[in-house]
Amino acid sequence: MAGGDLRVTGARLLDGRVVDVEVVDGAIASVVDAGSAPSGDVGSAPSGDVGSAPSGDTTRTDGRAVVDAGGRLVTRSFVDGHLHLEKAFTLERVGDEALAAYTAGDMGSASQAIELASAVKRDYDRSWLVPNIRRALREAIRHGTLTIQAFVDVDTTAQLEGLQAVLQVRDELADVLDVQVVAFPQDGVVRDDGAAALVEEALHLGADVVGGIPWIEFSDRDAQRHVDWACDLAVTTGRRVAMLTDDAGDPSLRTTEMLATAMIDRGLQGRGVACHARAVGTYAVPSQLRLARLARTAGLAFVSDPQTGPVHLPVQRFLDEGVDVALGQDDVEDAYYPFGRSNLLEVAFLAAHSLGMLADADQRTLIELVTTRAARVLGADDRGIAPGAPADLVVHGHERLVDVLRVHAAPQAVVSRGRVVATTSTTSQFHQVPAPVVDA
Ligand SMILES: [Zn+2]
Repeated sequence: MAGGDLRVTGARLLDGRVVDVEVVDGAIASVVDAGSAPSGDVGSAPSGDVGSAPSGDTTRTDGRAVVDAGGRLVTRSFVDGHLHLEKAFTLERVGDEALAAYTAGDMGSASQAIELASAVKRDYDRSWLVPNIRRALREAIRHGTLTIQAFVDVDTTAQLEGLQAVLQVRDELADVLDVQVVAFPQDGVVRDDGAAALVEEALHLGADVVGGIPWIEFSDRDAQRHVDWACDLAVTTGRRVAMLTDDAGDPSLRTTEMLATAMIDRGLQGRGVACHARAVGTYAVPSQLRLARLARTAGLAFVSDPQTGPVHLPVQRFLDEGVDVALGQDDVEDAYYPFGRSNLLEVAFLAAHSLGMLADADQRTLIELVTTRAARVLGADDRGIAPGAPADLVVHGHERLVDVLRVHAAPQAVVSRGRVVATTSTTSQFHQVPAPVVDA
């Protein structure tokens, strides 16, 4: 389907400029100072009217839709670097045992948690998976998350049931959001004989990315075989590779390094993503720096989700070394995390605390980790609000980034390829509360 035509007026960018954004056929055609556009301008001077009634979309006389941002912040739509999509809303089916094992102490029981959580996959059936996936993606759309790297378990227990369900819903919603489907052998490919063949079949069926989880294998030798298999498959099929690496509180885990090295050996620079990589947070600083420099050489990017586990990648250190990092939702009410609603502002808000990134400059970094920089991590368009970029953007409820993060509400308007696809309004009424005193 062709993209839409639209004008967004009074849009405050992250650099403070207030602009009008003209969208033609789903792409941003121009970004000019607010009110300076040629005739046909609906004229919307930015108001200081923050947090009031939502900006709706109206229609101009020439039939083109207009969204008045009224001076509020407008950013690129959100990017979720890592989500276990088919597991969304399965916590009730699994129970709390796996969750307790995954998050306990220093994550010494992470692999046992994965085994406990695996039980639900014996019951995988499209009849209940599809409604859950639809619900999860509607939450994502409402929160302005329009690009998602979705990991889907493909193994001898799940078979291809979860994958087929995700592919069905991905295709239903393809005009609204991009779901990059990762065929993910959650139980390993050496341990789980038959999983590798299922991943290859998943790619034939339409999965986009070769997945992996080398640290789950029983030896470093098998982990290396796992990494080599996945990277070879990425080369022969022309796909990107995305792995869960070193996802436990264990400083001896080194599969992130294996992935970076394998990418360099095969010419896969810039085509790989390591998710979690939590063990890196337990390395001595010299080993962290060594790995960061290797990752930069390999063009290996990272997705961190510090809200779903007590140990995490040292994000700022990796950014300082020139490595791209994104944040991810990781889980939506599943065996590993009881919350989650694909609200990447909420993810950034939580990361601000667990990563100690609270200052103004940190807030700017955090918003990049869920928008433009995250897009770069996934190999998607990372230009943001700029001519030529896709018109995938969100109108927030506030002018200042600090308020947007503090409240982390769903955007007032979500625009996908030049069309308004969701609007949200929230209002509160005070009762029996004295009115504020207005100074003369
Ligand atoms: Zn994960």
